[in-house]
Amino acid sequence: MIKHLRSAADLDAETATLILDTAAEMAALSGREVKKLPALRGRTVVNLFYEDSTRTRISFEAAAKRLSADVINFSAKGSSVSKGESLKDTALTLQAMGADAVVIRHSASGAPHRLANWVEGSVVNAGDGTHEHPTQALLDAYTMRSRLGRLDGLRVAIVGDVLHSRVARSNVLLLTTLGAHVTLVGPPTLIPRDISAKAQVSYDLDAVLPESDVVMMLRVQTERMQDSYFPSAREYSRRYGLDVPRLQKMPEHAIVMHPGPMNRGMEIAPEVADSPRSTIVEQVANGVSVRMAVLYLLLGGK
Ligand code: ASP
Repeated sequence: MIKHLRSAADLDAETATLILDTAAEMAALSGREVKKLPALRGRTVVNLFYEDSTRTRISFEAAAKRLSADVINFSAKGSSVSKGESLKDTALTLQAMGADAVVIRHSASGAPHRLANWVEGSVVNAGDGTHEHPTQALLDAYTMRSRLGRLDGLRVAIVGDVLHSRVARSNVLLLTTLGAHVTLVGPPTLIPRDISAKAQVSYDLDAVLPESDVVMMLRVQTERMQDSYFPSAREYSRRYGLDVPRLQKMPEHAIVMHPGPMNRGMEIAPEVADSPRSTIVEQVANGVSVRMAVLYLLLGGK
């Protein structure tokens, strides 16, 4: 088993499949009255969040607690980080406390890679800048597999602000490792060259929809945009928003995904987000099982 999960590229098909299979076993637990397993009793998991998060932070906390680990939640606000403490000094403090795993979210791409040099425990990337978010890709793959029964040969469209999306980057890496075919869809200004080499690219959403088993909508990340990448929100929505007429162009079995948080009415219409074809709430639930599997396996579970 690998020691760290910094990138979806750390996972070969065998390891990724082991994580998904273990997550399925963990999911069986959540149906029970007592949801806890003793697997990580006496181990310490630190959640180190330098960037805002709702789902991911709660999900890692729930996952670690369900495995009976001790959980320390650290957020940059209210800590010595606001006094200018560097990531390295914070890491040395965590090291001194004996963290077995550090889950990190940071606005700087590559922060988890740096951290892994300074702590002895496992490092899990919970989102680094615009770079990667590997556990989101794992929970997305898990959701696709459980809804559609397979990943191999699946046609997945990832739509919208790919440029700023660590979710898209990790998904392209993981899904192609697992045999899915990925098409990136969006305005040319929002499709970066580096990952488009591993996928197909289209600027025409209407043409891609009938050919897709999965349509993953991405949030338009205005907080990361220094330039204007499209003429107006209305124009973006008209060309790349998923509304009901577009949903009807998808094959009947096809599902709609979104990592959250959503801009309802921009990249996705509320009726689509709340439709039975949408897996958005399921993705959140699956996130806990997948993160349980990741922590369990990285920390030496068999
Ligand atoms: N929640 C995801 C992330 O942290 C997606 C997003 O923010 O749009 O990357």
